[in-house]
Amino acid sequence: MRKMIVAGNWKMNMNLEEGLSFAKSVNQYFNDKPAAKAEVILCTPFIHLDGVGQILKNSKVALGAQNCASEPSGAYTGEISAGMIKSTGAKYVIIGHSERRTYYHEDDALLNKKTTLAISSGLKVIFCCGEVKEERESARHFDVVKRQLIDGLFPLSATEIENIVIAYEPVWAIGTGLTASPEQAQEMHHYIRGLVQEKYGKQCAEEMTILYGGSCKPSNASEIFSKPDVDGGLIGGASLKKEDFAAIVEAI
Ligand code: PEP
Repeated sequence: MRKMIVAGNWKMNMNLEEGLSFAKSVNQYFNDKPAAKAEVILCTPFIHLDGVGQILKNSKVALGAQNCASEPSGAYTGEISAGMIKSTGAKYVIIGHSERRTYYHEDDALLNKKTTLAISSGLKVIFCCGEVKEERESARHFDVVKRQLIDGLFPLSATEIENIVIAYEPVWAIGTGLTASPEQAQEMHHYIRGLVQEKYGKQCAEEMTILYGGSCKPSNASEIFSKPDVDGGLIGGASLKKEDFAAIVEAI
C-alpha cells in the first residue's frame, strides 16, 4: 500500500519557545481528531528537534529534520549528524531541498552521501528534486529531474530505496505563490514513478510515495492531491499556520 504523507517544512522560522508552543497546538489538533488519511510530519529546525520530539512522543504526528551532515561524526564544526537527529526521536530528514542546492551548493554526489548516511542511521529521507523556471521554459524539466534522481538517489540499493519518499518541488513554485497545475504535477509524478520502475521494478514504483511541494495551500491542495500519482505534499509557508496546515492534511 502506498503511504500518503503531508510534511510541514518550517524552514528557518520560530524561536524555541514559539516552535514548542506551535508544535503543542498542532499535535493536540491532530490527536483530538480521528486518524488522518495521511501521515503528518513536522520538519523543524535543529534547535526544536529535542523539545518537539518530547511533545510528539506517542503521537500520531511524526518528527523530521530539514538537513543533516554528510559525515557521521567528528571535527565538523557547526554540523549536525544523522545519528544525532535520530537520537531526538525524529523519523525523517529532508535532503536535497532546492534552498540547500542553491544557497549551499549541495550537489547530487553530496546529497547521495547524506542520503545513504541518513538511511544507515535509521532515518527515512524525504528526497527533493525539481527544476528551475528557465529549465521548464526550455523544456528541460524532465531531463533535470532525471539527472537529480539518477545521480542523487539511484545509487541506493533496492533495500535502501525503501526508506525514501520523493518530493517533486518545482523551484519556480516554492514560496512564490505560483503553483504547478494539477496536470503538470501529475505529469512529472508519473514520469518519476516510471524512472523508479525502470531502476527498482514495478512493486517499488507502485509503493513509492511522491509528494508535491510548491505554494501548496488549502485552496489548491484537493485538486493537486486528487491526481493518481500525487501522494501528498511537502508544505512550506502554509505549514506555519495551524488552520492552513490542517486544511491541507484534510484535503487528502
Ligand atoms: C518547501 O519549502 O518545501 C515549500 C514547498 O515551500 P512553500 O510551500 O512555501 O512553497
